[in-house]
Amino acid sequence: MSVKPTQNQALVSRILTFSCVDGPGNRLVVFLQGCNFDCITCHNPHTINHCTHCGDCVKSCPSDALSIHTQKNDQQRVIWHADKCTHCDRCIDVCPDKSNPKIVRYSVDEMLALIRKHHFFLNGITISGGEATLQLPFILSLFKAIKSDPELAHLTCFIDSNGSLSRTGWERVSPYLDGAMIDLKAWQSDTHLWLVGRDKHRVIDTIDYLATQNKLHEVRLLHIPGKSDLDTEVDAVGDYLKTLPEGVKIRLNAFQHHGVIGEALTWEKCSESEMNRFHELLFSKINRPMQLPTVYT
Ligand code: SF4
Ligand code: SF4
Repeated sequence: MSVKPTQNQALVSRILTFSCVDGPGNRLVVFLQGCNFDCITCHNPHTINHCTHCGDCVKSCPSDALSIHTQKNDQQRVIWHADKCTHCDRCIDVCPDKSNPKIVRYSVDEMLALIRKHHFFLNGITISGGEATLQLPFILSLFKAIKSDPELAHLTCFIDSNGSLSRTGWERVSPYLDGAMIDLKAWQSDTHLWLVGRDKHRVIDTIDYLATQNKLHEVRLLHIPGKSDLDTEVDAVGDYLKTLPEGVKIRLNAFQHHGVIGEALTWEKCSESEMNRFHELLFSKINRPMQLPTVYT
């Protein structure tokens, strides 16, 4: 049995109470479980699917932090005992479904209580994933509650997204949204389809819409040497980026092996010199600042 999020509850895989790399300033970041892309290069593949409670990971836990419970309807559930967990992540390594038994369900009120606890040190919150917008009803309830709470209203509300949400979805959240970071992982539709499992038309539509609403904080480009096509399509990519407002940040991400599983582990990593070469090429087309990676592994 898979677990589904509800209007006022979210399935959360991780929370960072302080981050300075997920939007402007100091932010509390909530990573929601579940993604509708299946990127070959995903650095967190265990955030893609919801747990099916198959039980395969239970025996792998060296700390007795997982157990199987049979419910009244005879269906089994895997229960995570946070107090015993050492976060060794062996359960994630053995999961055959790109999932994670350590998902926690948060209500809007529980999330607000956590934000309230840290709000003196925060500039805002960012909802990330997985794909954050798959749990849009929760995001809407949370952002509305933040904006209408005198103690929290100063916090900016950001979404980090793969850009797959429909225009209608963005229109619903836009009144409560201060900014979004969107990934553009390839240019040609067939390359995008191959890399992430879907074509790019929704991503471009999202970037265009958010730019017109002044809600586009950052566009992130992934460079995979010899695989992604942003390099070979640099004229077209550059022409497109030049249409974005000046205030939109452009971030270049270098493909690395950290967290990746499967065939992409055999692909060449993007070195600093390769990234600098790509940056120079793109800069010659768009002549605007871009954020480069600070760490290469
Ligand atoms: S996390 Fe994976 S292995 Fe563990 S119960 Fe869920 S689906 Fe099965
Ligand atoms: S991360 Fe926690 S639940 Fe998973 S195997 Fe390690 S101790 Fe067990």
